[in-house]
Formats: sequence, C-alpha cells, structure tokens
Amino acid sequence: MLNVTDLNAWYGKSHVLQDVSLKVDAGEVVCLLGRNGAGKTTTLKSLVGAIGARRGDIRFDGEAITALRTYQIARRGIALVPEHRGIFGLLTVEENLAIAARKATLWPLAEIYKLFPRLHERRRNRGTALSGGEQQMLAIARALIGGPRVLLLDEPTEGLAPVIVDELADVVRAVRGAGVAVLLVEQNLSFCEALADRHYILDQGRIVYAADRATFAGASRERERYLAVTAD
Ligand code: ATP
Repeated sequence: MLNVTDLNAWYGKSHVLQDVSLKVDAGEVVCLLGRNGAGKTTTLKSLVGAIGARRGDIRFDGEAITALRTYQIARRGIALVPEHRGIFGLLTVEENLAIAARKATLWPLAEIYKLFPRLHERRRNRGTALSGGEQQMLAIARALIGGPRVLLLDEPTEGLAPVIVDELADVVRAVRGAGVAVLLVEQNLSFCEALADRHYILDQGRIVYAADRATFAGASRERERYLAVTAD
C-alpha cells in the first residue's frame, strides 16, 4: 500500500536520510526503530511532504505522491500524529475533534468515543487540562476522524506511564482491527514488539535491518548493535 524507495532528505546541507526504502501493507503495524537522531521523525515528515528537500519514490496504492503537497497527501489517506501531538490547548476535546471532522468519515464521534472512553469523559475539558496520555489519545483520535488508511505515529509512548502505554497498545490494535495500517516510530522496544508485524531499524539515516516479528525477536546482535539493548 505504502511503498518507499530510495528516499533521501536534507536539512540545509545536512543529508539526513540516505536511500531509505520501506513498505507498509494494508492491515499491518510496522515499527521503525532507532536511536536518537537516527532519522525516524525525518522519515515520517518526509512521507507527508513536511520537509522541503527530499528525493526518492513514495507510492501510495501505486500512485507516486512524492511531489504532492502535505494536504494532498493527507487527502489520499496518510495521517501523521506528530511527536508533540499538536492539539489545541485552548479548545476542548470535542472542539479539537470537531475541527478535524469531515462530512463522510468512518469514524463519527460516537465511534471515536467508543474507542476512547476517556475522551468522552473529558470532552468538555480543554486540551491544556489533559494528561499526557489523554493528549496522545486525542491526537490519534483527531487523525482518525480524517479517515486515514495509514496512520504514522511518532513516539506515541514518550513520557507516558506504563499503564497508559498499555491502553495505547490496545488503541493501536483496535485501529489495525478497523483496517487502518500503522507505521510506528518508537524507542520503546517492548511496545513495538507487542504490536508490530514487521520491524525496520534506522541508523544514521539508513535502514540497516528489516525483519518480521519472529525473526526480530531472535535478532540479539542487531538489537545490541543498533538499539543498545541486550537480551534478557
Ligand atoms: P529522535 O528520537 O531524537 O527524535 P530521530 O530518529 O527522530 O530522533 P530526527 O529527528 O529525524 O531523528 O533527526 C535526524 C537528524 O537530523 C539528527 O541528526 C538531527 O539533529 C537532524 N535534524 C532534525 N531536525 C532538524 C532540523 N530542523 N534542522 C536541522 N537538522 C535537523
């Protein structure tokens, strides 16, 4: 569904992504792992056209989307939930959702509240009054309302308590269950392992490892080398 071939991206003269190739098929959760500064966020931003200087071939259902504008890419069905969540602090939960609403969506408010009961409870609260976990849920909910076919999640578990991380894992499973594929950027390895069908490791702007779930579980050498994680 989403096929990326030889993606390169630059910040000024700094060549950050180098020939990154990856794919996300329908119904998959795919995890992009890597240390700080490896280029994970840059990859997601490049996929939605939020970085000026990039080159490569990005295809969505066979259509080349590399040259499209961010809003055109969003309309095709690719939604980015950025690392810092980007919700409106002065608006209530329901107002944040309302401004994302389109007429025809698979995710009317009632469905959103079914998936996120906490947001229903907090619907009259402003964004600034929400906990980190609630803000993350709201950011995901807002992206879903746009009816994406692929959700790009940038470090959703960052700064969240373990119990909230578990709730978030259930949300990602439910999203996949509803037919939305997920490309997940994370540093939380156990979260990724609990969810992902396939894994990529990015190191210094290059994909250095790709594996399915079962193979990755046994890849202690790569985990140690690129993620600095030793086997238990
Ligand atoms: P993190 O987990 O820290 O967010 P990351 O894997 O997402 O790491 P990126 O944020 O994509 O990494 O950064 C990749 C490289 O690009 C890093 O060397 C970073 O310093 C650099 N970089 C990121 N944003 C910019 C920017 N706006 N201008 C210049 N360089 C940048």
